[in-house]
Amino acid sequence: MAHPCRVLLIYPGFVPNTFWNYQATCELFGVRYPAAPLGLITVAAMLPQAWEVRLIDRNVEELHDEDILWADLVMTGGMINQQPDCLGVIDRCHTLGKPVAVGGPDVTSSPHLYRSADFQVLGEAEDIIKDFIAAWERGERFGVFEAQKFQVDVTTTPMPRYDLLKFDRYFYICVQYSRGCPFTCEFCDIIELYGRVPRTKTNEQILAELDYLYRLGYRGHVDFVDDNLIGNKKAVKKFLPELKAWLQARDYPFEFSTEASINLADDDALLRMMTEANFFAVFVGIESPDPETLAATRKKQNTRRDIVASIHRIYGAGMFVTAGFIIGFDSERQSVADAMVQFIEDCAIPLAMVGLLYALPNTQLTRRLAKEGRLYQGHDVMRPDRSGDQCLLGINFEPKRPMRDILSDYRQILDNLYSPEAFAGRLRRLCDLLDRSNSRRRPPKGDIKLRSGAAEHFNRIINHLPEARTAFQETMRYCASTNPRALRFIVLMMGIYLHLGPLSRHVIATMDDRIAAQDTPRLLMPPAAQEAHAGAAF
Ligand code: SF4
Repeated sequence: MAHPCRVLLIYPGFVPNTFWNYQATCELFGVRYPAAPLGLITVAAMLPQAWEVRLIDRNVEELHDEDILWADLVMTGGMINQQPDCLGVIDRCHTLGKPVAVGGPDVTSSPHLYRSADFQVLGEAEDIIKDFIAAWERGERFGVFEAQKFQVDVTTTPMPRYDLLKFDRYFYICVQYSRGCPFTCEFCDIIELYGRVPRTKTNEQILAELDYLYRLGYRGHVDFVDDNLIGNKKAVKKFLPELKAWLQARDYPFEFSTEASINLADDDALLRMMTEANFFAVFVGIESPDPETLAATRKKQNTRRDIVASIHRIYGAGMFVTAGFIIGFDSERQSVADAMVQFIEDCAIPLAMVGLLYALPNTQLTRRLAKEGRLYQGHDVMRPDRSGDQCLLGINFEPKRPMRDILSDYRQILDNLYSPEAFAGRLRRLCDLLDRSNSRRRPPKGDIKLRSGAAEHFNRIINHLPEARTAFQETMRYCASTNPRALRFIVLMMGIYLHLGPLSRHVIATMDDRIAAQDTPRLLMPPAAQEAHAGAAF
């Protein structure tokens, strides 16, 4: 009798030099990559129980030919920043004679780029995976399976196969409570992929997932990867008290981070519930200090409010904010550099992800730019010879403002924000604002970050970054004397600066090259350089 189907799940590697890969930070804390893959281990749980499943995450381990040769079928897929590696994985598997099924957000948005895969599973997998399995078991060896948009009932999503993860390789483990976001930001692909009506799991379901992680022995940081945790406020307000009770009963084995829209700051009850449920960090998309730009890009929830005060209210609830900012919107009429820097300083956000606008495939923005004939050729292609995310590769379309001005603004912003002194200054202001008096003081026992003490981490940080020594030492002293409860987060952010400081210098150097390319008269350029010039970074 033939053996049951053997499936090798391969999580492709992300391109290097991205804001989020925190490479040096991972080395500091003795892990290999920040986040564990959630999508593939959720798909693993949808496969027939008789099938044998293995997982290789290319971000934390080697993929050997023997792994591929073991499998009857390879399943892979990911985001746009994994595209080059994903396509490489498909080729490698084919060379070894193995069929490949690809799924996830990038193939869903750009299926034409993945024609080499034997199977494409487009959209959310829950409702169509059974069709794919049936086709495979009938002996079919190619096909496209496309989900109806936004129809999946996430209360039927199975428990992710957390047992497939090697916990000690990651900074944090991911769970998902809801999908979708009610807002309409023009540049966002979330609402195209997951819709505008947030769908939530049941409280029992998500607590069972946390329970499973707990029983498997995981302790520490868990990230709710929801597109917007508070997209359905009514539901999350019913969930958070149960989460608090679950944590209390187990002596707080986890502490949480997530993404939320800024209207979180308007709701004191919700902020309190999150504090009590041991949330310590929130990512918020702020994008721009300019209300006209926010309105033009349909980020209406950020208009008609004092954003700085909103961020400080979240600090008052004991959670620090990391935030996204974008340069290159059509509505920018003049330099935005000074205003952006001042705004981020006023907010006191140390970890500000400032990037260039990137027209992701499958967004309202990309459709508009296509209609206006402004998209650069290959706008959705991540070339394997280039690295980086929107910070390096952004503006993949003909901008309204001169490209040179946008790039100059961008390099100026990074130069101002990421000097050690400026970064340390924001850390000190965060110390003044972060009220941890109602939050748990200690991280969970067994948290990976406790492998070494804060003092040891600090010494290693300044040994790696002698140029930051004085500013960081002063900040440590200041925080220890004024807000010792915030100290471990300040050290954590200094650890992240270990990645972001050098990355920002790399981005600035790349911007200088791009600006120089703008300044070179096109007719004097060789054809290859003309191509690079025409597509800016493309
Ligand atoms: S708030 Fe965030 S997730 Fe929601 S539409 Fe805007 S960018 Fe997308």
